[in-house]
Amino acid sequence: MFIFDGHADTLSRLYLSGQNLDDEKGHVNLDTIRQGGIGAQFFVAFVEPKFYHGLALHSTMGKIDLFWRMIEQNQEILTFAGNGLDIERAKEKGLVSCLLAIEGGEALEGSLANLRLFYRLGVRLLTLTWNYRNLLGSGQLEGEEAGGLSLFGREVVHEMNRLGMLIDVSHLNDVGFWDVLQLSSKPVIASHSNSRALRDHKRNLTDEQIKTLADGGGVIGVNFYPDFLTGEKQASIYHVLDHVDHLVQVGGVNCVALGSDFDGVDSLPDGLEDCSKTQNLIPLLEQRGYKSEVISKIMGENLLRVCHEVLN
Ligand SMILES: [Zn+2]
Repeated sequence: MFIFDGHADTLSRLYLSGQNLDDEKGHVNLDTIRQGGIGAQFFVAFVEPKFYHGLALHSTMGKIDLFWRMIEQNQEILTFAGNGLDIERAKEKGLVSCLLAIEGGEALEGSLANLRLFYRLGVRLLTLTWNYRNLLGSGQLEGEEAGGLSLFGREVVHEMNRLGMLIDVSHLNDVGFWDVLQLSSKPVIASHSNSRALRDHKRNLTDEQIKTLADGGGVIGVNFYPDFLTGEKQASIYHVLDHVDHLVQVGGVNCVALGSDFDGVDSLPDGLEDCSKTQNLIPLLEQRGYKSEVISKIMGENLLRVCHEVLN
């Protein structure tokens, strides 16, 4: 079965360690990818807050370089994918599709030219904010009073629609979420967020948000981080299934995807310790009564559908 994960922070780990994915550390490395039969992975260039003042673009370029070197050094396993067709071709060849994302609009340093150049460098998804306010809008830690998208943030949404890039609303505050949903002419993604009805955390989506995003053809990648699943330090794979169930109930079977947050979190549920274990979800989804066609959608086909629709 095709497994497609919408969010892993592996580039941050490699950026610090100087390794190239054969390091047998972390949650996503060559071994775990192979063991887990991963078909496609969004690799995220995350802008750490220590780089916000003057080094956001600089550090993002370093991670993009790392992404391309990682593919080059592991060509027998990995390949770049910039759209749905690339992913289909990689599938046929038995290669793992690597898609490039940026988490944090700080990387743009206020310039649409930088957005366009990022696209040319292979970036296909931008998480507009992390947890704080930036030039585009406000992250969830700023609260609702911080306001929604700025004028620049609105320009970024339009330009991303035009370029054919995925707009990611994970981390945005609620007012920003609604601005994006209203403005975007294409389906929108929440790459790594869960249900707020099950776990009341601002990083998670309300039922109204889930329904609206789903009605627009978008997807929500279920996040494996215990704090976003249960609010406890520990969780199990069954809590991930609970969030899947809820997303299906509210948004339907076409809106659910995976957004593990591997290599970006300090703990993971029992049964989902790294990406070799993601496939453990398949028999458990069967046990919960999902048909194999629906399980395929959740494990990867829904996210692939949105890639076909949005990415040029
Ligand atoms: Zn994140």
